[in-house]
Amino acid sequence: MATTVPRTGSGPSGQSPDGILAPMPSAERPADLVLTGGHVHTVDPGRPRAEAVAVRGERVVAVGSTTEVSGHIGPRTRVVDLRDRLLLPGFQDAHVHPISGGVDRLQCDVREARGRDGVLATIRAYAASHPGEEWIVGSGWYMADFEHGTPRREDLDAIVPDRPAFLPNRDGHSTWVNSKALELAGITRDTPDPADGRIERDPDGTPTGTLHEGAADAVERLLPRITDDTLSEGLRLAQDYLHSLGITAWQDAIVTPRDQLIYRRAAEAGWLTARVEAAMWWQRDRGGEQVNELIARSRDGSVGRLRSNSVKLMLDGVLETFTGAMLDPYLDANGRPTERRGITFIDPDELRGWVTALDAAGLQPHFHAIGDRAVRGALDAVAAARAANGPTDTRPHVAHIQVIHPDDVPRFAEVGLVANAQPLWACHEGQMDDLTIPFLGPERTTWQYPFKSLLNTGARLAMGSDWSVSTPNPLVEIEVAVTRISPGSRGGAEPFLPSERLTLDESIRAFTLGSAYVNHLDDDTGSIEVGKLADLTVIDRDLFAMGAGPIGDARVLLTTVGGAVVFEDPALG
Ligand SMILES: [Zn+2]
Repeated sequence: MATTVPRTGSGPSGQSPDGILAPMPSAERPADLVLTGGHVHTVDPGRPRAEAVAVRGERVVAVGSTTEVSGHIGPRTRVVDLRDRLLLPGFQDAHVHPISGGVDRLQCDVREARGRDGVLATIRAYAASHPGEEWIVGSGWYMADFEHGTPRREDLDAIVPDRPAFLPNRDGHSTWVNSKALELAGITRDTPDPADGRIERDPDGTPTGTLHEGAADAVERLLPRITDDTLSEGLRLAQDYLHSLGITAWQDAIVTPRDQLIYRRAAEAGWLTARVEAAMWWQRDRGGEQVNELIARSRDGSVGRLRSNSVKLMLDGVLETFTGAMLDPYLDANGRPTERRGITFIDPDELRGWVTALDAAGLQPHFHAIGDRAVRGALDAVAAARAANGPTDTRPHVAHIQVIHPDDVPRFAEVGLVANAQPLWACHEGQMDDLTIPFLGPERTTWQYPFKSLLNTGARLAMGSDWSVSTPNPLVEIEVAVTRISPGSRGGAEPFLPSERLTLDESIRAFTLGSAYVNHLDDDTGSIEVGKLADLTVIDRDLFAMGAGPIGDARVLLTTVGGAVVFEDPALG
């Protein structure tokens, strides 16, 4: 597991993402690692399939048949017999929140718990094993596990009576607290709802223990401050976890100055093994004066495998709470139009100017857009930047893209905006069927997640998870991209807009080379080619073979970054 990350300053283009010149390949020296006897899916159109790969130092030196590559084996070469397994380029997650995801795992994380009883058992066990913690802080419960989607304080009081408890749900929009926490925050039946939230109450006004949106702030501000050490530990945990899922690089979708410091320290200390692009958070209560600060932060934030050349612009909310920005109004429960068209966090005129300024400064716009009005705002802003700046290499991309007006689908390719898909969400499940479709109506329902239509019009596609909102396992996400069926309802379930299904090949390409493109890593990673960095992952079965079973059931057995092993399962053999 020894991995060393060369530490140097940022280098000019032509150097590797590690900032060092590649060593001169010597034809004589044998490979350090040979992976052989497998199915190599290279994502290189020049040679799509192979059997074996040889790695010397941090780079791939041969791709070919088992016989061709055997010439690279020397006495000290590690030879891994793939035994018909699948070798892929490492996955790259183009939209993920690793630090907070890792911190969630350090706290009372109930994501893996099944049902109300499972959640309560997890919290009870956590409280028992953390007697010294002043607060029980956790996250990740699922609304469908509780009556009316709102868990009650009495359930928490029964297992955590003496300490305050604070647990946001999986999407972070609702928080479960116990009586002690309500008491400390002074929330009673007489407390009015804040402007940006709602206190769930019994008929007599007594708070039940679920606080929606900003109503949780009164409790949240009492929580013990998370230390830098905890954030670093969260990052380390997240990195190990993501490597174990075959992920070798990612784009962190919200990087505050403090997060950037945590990454910098990891890079300087030499343990940031993943290649990371940091998307620095655009503060929407401020304006264009931020651009110069972001340029400075970009310069300081490029150390080792860390790059900070992206800026996250959050344009709207989510459909389930009617905060996603729509061109036409949401419907009410009876299918009649309402007055609500969602929230625009950044004024579209100002957005055009700021995106033009960021693009001119060489910074990449990374948008969050859910509703069709927000998506159009991102397209218009990129079009304005192109008109003002001409072609640049900032590679703007837009994450989520839940509802795209059909007129806007071809514009992705026209303006050069990369579609950054979270494919796990493109299926029938509770949030889609009960909280989204009724309020969009039949026509707009069919405008959701049009991945195949985007590809057909020549758009570039990248993929990411949005972990810890949902699983970071790319194989599960790819399964949904291919089937449009939730892994939770395999067999019998109806696919969601089946004409938008992608092939396995297209999905893998989006999760490797497609995401490498938005990370500006495609020259050196994203496919398995001679001369590229050996960022690789071994899957326990050939997903392209008949009878491989559900894609999401496959497991990762080995992950390398720059030729160094960062994850290995004993089952690799
Ligand atoms: Zn996100």
